[in-house]
Amino acid sequence: MRIDEILSKKRTLSFEVFPPKKGAEEKEALLSTIEKLKTLRPDFISVTYGAGGANAREATEISGCIKKMGVEPLAHITGGPSSKSDIDRVLGELKKLGVENVLALRGDRPVEYEAEYCKYFPHATDLISYIGDDMCIGAACYPEGHIECQTLYDDIVNLKKKQDCGASFLITQIFYDNSYYYRLLHEAGKMGVTVPIIPGIMPLISAKNINRIKSMCGSAIPLDFRNMIESYSSNPTVMREIGLNYAVYQIIDLIAKGAPGVHLYIMNRAETATEIFGRLKNVFNELF
Ligand code: FAD
Repeated sequence: MRIDEILSKKRTLSFEVFPPKKGAEEKEALLSTIEKLKTLRPDFISVTYGAGGANAREATEISGCIKKMGVEPLAHITGGPSSKSDIDRVLGELKKLGVENVLALRGDRPVEYEAEYCKYFPHATDLISYIGDDMCIGAACYPEGHIECQTLYDDIVNLKKKQDCGASFLITQIFYDNSYYYRLLHEAGKMGVTVPIIPGIMPLISAKNINRIKSMCGSAIPLDFRNMIESYSSNPTVMREIGLNYAVYQIIDLIAKGAPGVHLYIMNRAETATEIFGRLKNVFNELF
């Protein structure tokens, strides 16, 4: 089923997984993770895709497995350095497997930008237009602005182009301060973005991840939360509890203010999703 259709009827709960890097053992572990996630009745599970399409085969295969397991997959695709025939091949495979939803992205550019890098698909908008309307297309957005944009305003102008090219829903980059998400909704709304914007939440359950998150996506960590993490960074069990509770707080606040769903970045850890679901069982059962 198309995700835009699901969103027109209800709030969505979704998870993001990444394809295995190594052989059969990792694949089996991921499939068992997906079986566990399925018991939480997600509306869809998204599958990440390497920036250069290097893991296209594995990513496509996992999307096909999710479909077979009876959950709706959302296959990420990055334009990046791909040629049109690379994209045709991946889309053809996905369609054969019954996948109806893709998240169209440009992908991160190499640090040393080469002019040739994004020859055919310099931006997600080019990929969205190329895919056309025979699939349901989602795209990425950035509550704190994309790193390459001078201002949030410029980034939202480009976000509106994603909608105009055919994206029918958006998923946000990770954020830890919900006010960035509300600001994005407000500003994007003023510029005519009307498609649902699903907030992306990643529970920060290990102090080691603070610097990783900063370098990966630059998300700001509110001072109160940072203080809690730093006070207990040497105690992993307390740290985990703090991170899960903070994610729960973010989700309740988002739902109370009308978010159209929640997308959880769980780093292939079913237990993280299960714990959050357990703490918010009635919220998910009654409000989703
Ligand atoms: P774009 O939309 O092309 O945006 C990149 C920059 O160009 C922005 O500054 C934007 O404002 C500007 N821009 C956009 N359109 C135009 C235009 N038409 N003209 C001029 N400027 C424009 N990366 C992966 O490699 N694999 C993944 O699976 C993956 N999944 C992700 C999922 C989500 C929900 C998010 C938020 C990000 C994901 N990323 C993934 C990271 C993403 O690839 C990077 O953030 C990348 O730098 C930008 O991708 P984009 O699709 O937003 O690019």
